[in-house]
Amino acid sequence: MNDFSYVRACDPDEAIGLVEPARFPGADSARFVAGGTNLLDLMKENVLRPHRLVDINGLARWSGIEPLPDGGLRLGALARNAHTARHPLVHERYPLLSSAILSGASPQVRNMASNGGNLLQRTRCYYFYDSLVPCNKRAPGSGCSAIGQLARQHAILGASEHCIATHPSDMAVALAALEAVVHVRSPRGDRAIPIGDFHRLPGDRPQQDTTLEEDELVLHIDLPPAAQYAAHSAYLKIRERSSFAFALVSVAAALDLGADGRIRSARIALGSVAHKPWRRREAEELLTGQAPGRDLFEQAAARLLDGARPQGSGPGHNAFKIPLARRAVVRALENAVRGSVRDTGEDRP
Ligand SMILES: Cc1cc2nc3c(=O)[nH]c(=O)nc-3n(C[C@H](O)[C@H](O)[C@H](O)COP(=O)(O)OP(=O)(O)OC[C@H]3O[C@@H](n4cnc5c(N)ncnc54)[C@H](O)[C@@H]3O)c2cc1C
Ligand code: SF4
Repeated sequence: MNDFSYVRACDPDEAIGLVEPARFPGADSARFVAGGTNLLDLMKENVLRPHRLVDINGLARWSGIEPLPDGGLRLGALARNAHTARHPLVHERYPLLSSAILSGASPQVRNMASNGGNLLQRTRCYYFYDSLVPCNKRAPGSGCSAIGQLARQHAILGASEHCIATHPSDMAVALAALEAVVHVRSPRGDRAIPIGDFHRLPGDRPQQDTTLEEDELVLHIDLPPAAQYAAHSAYLKIRERSSFAFALVSVAAALDLGADGRIRSARIALGSVAHKPWRRREAEELLTGQAPGRDLFEQAAARLLDGARPQGSGPGHNAFKIPLARRAVVRALENAVRGSVRDTGEDRP
């Protein structure tokens, strides 16, 4: 572990003022720390070497969840994942989000993990964690060790020749389907970033996971009203064990069904298939005005996965993800028609 200093900030402007570029070679810029469940792991693995940790847990105003006048909900960046998932208003209005959060990590990790930190967690690409091998995300310009090597968990959509990593968050997939907006502050003022623009595809700058600047602090995440989806939504996570594992593929599906049973509108987001939660409007539009059914859902899944490419072939590679993702989309939509799962029920606190 490298030397670093630790300081607690009590308000956002103080926190932003304390996050500054590295002052000596080999160190990273100072970093905000919330739950520390990802950042400290990366420091222990020598992937990140911040010279200062700015603890933002003192920003009490951003640790709660509050209703918005338009029927939406404001999730504080410092609210814990466990608190968010179990909050009565999240349960009632956004069961999809509860279900996605509860499918992730373990109760202990969710008790520490914050909403802001969850969106900003780094990829689980094993080469990224191994500081002895090249990785463009960790050391820009060094190369990508995953391309042509074992890439079971890697991207099938939106990858580039510089990086094929996926984003691991479950919460972000539900937030993408719910069209959340991330509110951030920096010395240049406040700005709001639609969740679809928050995470980015790797392109030729894979070191940058999001469109956030290093000195920008996430204050809160706003959910627009989505009452029309509360009765028919589903989060489906496919993983190698039934709990405490990152997704191979996940799907957030939300349907607004009319009195005649037809689909008035649909939202679908795929997780762990790309560098960001994956949505495609054409797939959702294909469902609009139609009666739910397996054939229709298969067409939507095919549209959503149009252009998907495996990384290599054979054992240890990920060609299996394409049919897996197609089937998962169909099953998630079928589950959504049956009714919302308000809880995964697997681990009550
Ligand atoms: C064993 C294990 C299993 C896990 N399984 C899953 C899983 O199945 N699904 C899943 O989705 N996640 C999983 N996670 C990841 C976990 O959800 C994240 O580690 C957690 O959400 C990160 O939140 P944090 O508050 O601890 O972030 P931190 O580790 O404190 O910070 C993470 C990053 O965000 C930055 N940051 C934090 N807050 C802010 C803010 N407000 N503004 C700007 N920058 C900020 C930090 O500087 C840092 O770069 C797992 C983690 C562990 C350790
Ligand atoms: S896929 Fe991305 S994160 Fe993984 S080794 Fe390649 S550049 Fe690094």
